[in-house]
Amino acid sequence: MNDVFGYIDGHRRQFIERLQELCRQPSIAAQNVGIQETARMVAGLMEHIGVKTELYATDGAPVVFGVVGSGPRTLLIYNHYDVQPPEPLGEWHSPPFAAEVRDGKLYARGVADNKGNLVARLSAVEAWLQTRGALPLTVKFVVEGEEETSSAHLYQFVRQHQPLLQADGCLWEAGGKDIQENPGIYMGAKGILYVELEAKGANRDLHSSQATIVPNPAWRLVWALSTLKGRSENILVEGFYDEVVEPSSEEMEHLRRLAAARDDDLRRRDLGIDQFLLGVSGLQLVKRNLYQPTCTICGIESGYTGPGSKTVLPHRATAKIDFRLVPNQRPDDIFEKVKHHLAQHGFADVQIRQLGAEHPARTPVPGDDHRDLWTRADGLAVDGGDRTNVRTHRAVRNSHCGDRLRVRAQQRPRAQREYPAGRFLPASQACGALV
Ligand SMILES: [Zn+2]
Repeated sequence: MNDVFGYIDGHRRQFIERLQELCRQPSIAAQNVGIQETARMVAGLMEHIGVKTELYATDGAPVVFGVVGSGPRTLLIYNHYDVQPPEPLGEWHSPPFAAEVRDGKLYARGVADNKGNLVARLSAVEAWLQTRGALPLTVKFVVEGEEETSSAHLYQFVRQHQPLLQADGCLWEAGGKDIQENPGIYMGAKGILYVELEAKGANRDLHSSQATIVPNPAWRLVWALSTLKGRSENILVEGFYDEVVEPSSEEMEHLRRLAAARDDDLRRRDLGIDQFLLGVSGLQLVKRNLYQPTCTICGIESGYTGPGSKTVLPHRATAKIDFRLVPNQRPDDIFEKVKHHLAQHGFADVQIRQLGAEHPARTPVPGDDHRDLWTRADGLAVDGGDRTNVRTHRAVRNSHCGDRLRVRAQQRPRAQREYPAGRFLPASQACGALV
């Protein structure tokens, strides 16, 4: 491999510049900023490297699809070119799309999730092609542009182009180390239900002296929100925890090892908090972190929030909330439960809109066929829960992308029957089920 590594070392500067260029192109899915431009830029980069590439339109962001190499096996690589919104801008030490390098680190919105991974993989392919001539396997790239907004239109591409997605395994975007520099192996992905609540008052903002007689939607919203979760951190939506699956004894064993390998105090200090929620530590912390669903207020907006004061009675108040879901919770079911909850508590006037949804997924604890992977991870840190980022050739079962295919497959009754929620489905079968 020395020739390949030599090529990588020799092209280090160009590879970093390539990443900077991609990071300097904003691609904010939630705000529809720069999506088309970035799709074209990624396609151009893939073509330049030698990947046969095509852009596929959806009703949302285009999907960039590419193929390179040939051989008995096919690896599908899933990545995305969109990023989260960069706000609040005042918190950045350098502008979010400047891609500045400081102390040997590159700072940009989306560099870690997931433009860095994409460029690293494409550059690895280039290094191989330039030194060895041809890949010994087929590598397919699926690069979408709406991952950060729950991949609302990826299913259109999946449905229409199943043969393109056939593969022996799937590698998802991520890969990283924790604060102790331990690489993580993730054995699943939490799902999500993202909603927006809106309370309305008068037809326009009023002077706050009117607050004696005109309803204040900001208060309505705060009261509604306060019914969702108690101070003990319990989510109060009726039936919310009904489908939650407790860790098996095998999983608990791995959680114990993970807890033993982790330095809670180091993490706590890194975050600048006195204690973790409810004072948990050790095994309880790991278990809670990976196996509990959440109800998080991601943002609240109403009235005047600028400098100084303004005596205003707002006419509208909104809150964005995400529920991170664990097996076997289903986003549609939780949405109905939250809606019902609001009505039951006298907040039928508070509108609820679903902004995104994704099913949770969990893979079984690796058995003997994963021994090699497992042994290497052992003694480092074994993670579980939020993401899956290390793969064997069989690992499409464990992968987020595989899960997306599963989720879509479940929309078909046959697939639903054969692959109940919480079970993984190899991509090849998912494609088959979708046909
Ligand atoms: Zn991502």
